[in-house]
Amino acid sequence: MDAEQLRENAHKMVDFIADYYKNLETFPVLSQVEPGYLGKLLPDYAPNHPESLENVLADVQSKIIPGVTHWQSPGYFAYFPSNSSIAGFLGEMLSAGFNIIGFSWVTSPAATELEVIVLDWLAKMLQLPEHLLSPGQGGGVIQGTASEAILVALHAARDKVLKKVGKTSLPQLVAHASDQAHASMQKACQIAGVHPENCRLVKTDSSTNHALSPDVLREEISKDIAAGLIPFFLSSTVGTTSSTAVDPLSSLGKIAKDNELWFHIDAAYAGSACICPEYRQYLDGVEEADSFNMNTHKWFLTNFDCSLLWVKDRSALIQSLSTKPEYLKNKASEVNMVLDFKDWQIPLGRRFRSLKLWMVLRLYGLENLQCYIRNHIKLAKHFEDLVAADSRFEVIQLLQFGHSSVMILLLPDSATIIRPLIYGSLNFVKEILFLIVVPCVFALVCFRLLPAHDDQDCGNKLNQDLLDSVNSTGKIFISHTVLSGKHILRFVVGAPLTEENHIISAWKIFQDQTTFAKETKYT
Ligand code: PLP
Repeated sequence: MDAEQLRENAHKMVDFIADYYKNLETFPVLSQVEPGYLGKLLPDYAPNHPESLENVLADVQSKIIPGVTHWQSPGYFAYFPSNSSIAGFLGEMLSAGFNIIGFSWVTSPAATELEVIVLDWLAKMLQLPEHLLSPGQGGGVIQGTASEAILVALHAARDKVLKKVGKTSLPQLVAHASDQAHASMQKACQIAGVHPENCRLVKTDSSTNHALSPDVLREEISKDIAAGLIPFFLSSTVGTTSSTAVDPLSSLGKIAKDNELWFHIDAAYAGSACICPEYRQYLDGVEEADSFNMNTHKWFLTNFDCSLLWVKDRSALIQSLSTKPEYLKNKASEVNMVLDFKDWQIPLGRRFRSLKLWMVLRLYGLENLQCYIRNHIKLAKHFEDLVAADSRFEVIQLLQFGHSSVMILLLPDSATIIRPLIYGSLNFVKEILFLIVVPCVFALVCFRLLPAHDDQDCGNKLNQDLLDSVNSTGKIFISHTVLSGKHILRFVVGAPLTEENHIISAWKIFQDQTTFAKETKYT
């Protein structure tokens, strides 16, 4: 690589990216292209001769950007966020610059050592128990994703229990989580050879705000043991994907301890909020965890990918995942003086990801990071308030879905009959209800439109139509979930550029799409 060529081209690329951010709000947030669009625009074969960067960037502008969904747009409110920041971006650049593969300490000592230090910093910010930090028997490691984090934890737990009960007992092993746990739990079971029927997703409902009930879990575990099965793994979630439900860690941790289960905590999204003292309570009970995970690439200003996993007993992980081929042997590893993170993960190769996290922590500092989180939560509450405060809406019922849930009624403004939003496949809907389904704890607002009469299919269609209609404006992008059979709209505040005006505009889009359908399409 020629250093001067790099300087010249990298400057052009930085200019291109800076312009992208400058123009971000001019693009439809959700890409509006049809499947297969790109094959029609690009040649069938790679070029024989080099092309200019200018030509490639022109194609990015005209052909690639239309097919990009803009996760960094301030109008992005879907799924969970995937934060980018200047610090995260610079860290990624530096990592690309060094381009080391830090699988063993010796392959780049700074990569391993910085990772240990930064994970300990984060553990202290989250007030994780001492035994998850590196000076003890545990420690932290950066995985690519939360899915890999749960997989390696489950793998280690499986091997630990099989050592005790014998390898032939694999078909009897049972893993537990709630039915709200992320699908990565099922995938981890699949890969680790846990029988599909033994991946138990314990049913939750609105009576616990979709959190895992310790009583129900205890009962299930007793039944499994009575049936000759071997429960070995319990995964709990702080901030479930559908509705940010928080499982009761202290009670679950006790159940795990009583039954000798590996206790994993998945705080992939909500873990970030727990750096604020007022949200730390959601981690109470983490003292019992065998492993704990949070994704700094979601809501912590660290560019993808950067998923943090801490374990209480690193030897369990290492015994489960280590290999010692001749071609990787080196003195430092042989005499056990160092950590080799290749033995804490699935692949051999690993990027220098701690650089970007280190830069985020240093360039922003704890106080700014706390303000960042608090601001998003404040904006989400604002959105929740807007739903409730609109003059056409009336709070008609409390306590339906937990202590602070509200049901909101959009008053019919005339005798107008409102039909559903886009397809007209539903019959008459006389009035529309907005329901805030679960209290907004972090920065996710779950709500839905209700048809006046209690027909679940009708309500689900109505909400699917509203979602499609709102997303087709290109101004915002939201996603959905299903809770207790009901189609719910999810509105997550978390893009770094989102400000109050974007929240107000977003709510107006919901109002317009509802009113538009009412006034122009079906009256
Ligand atoms: N756990 C939770 C609670 C999540 O919300 C998600 C994704 O949103 C995951 C795990 C999976 O994350 P990843 O994409 O890092 O595997």
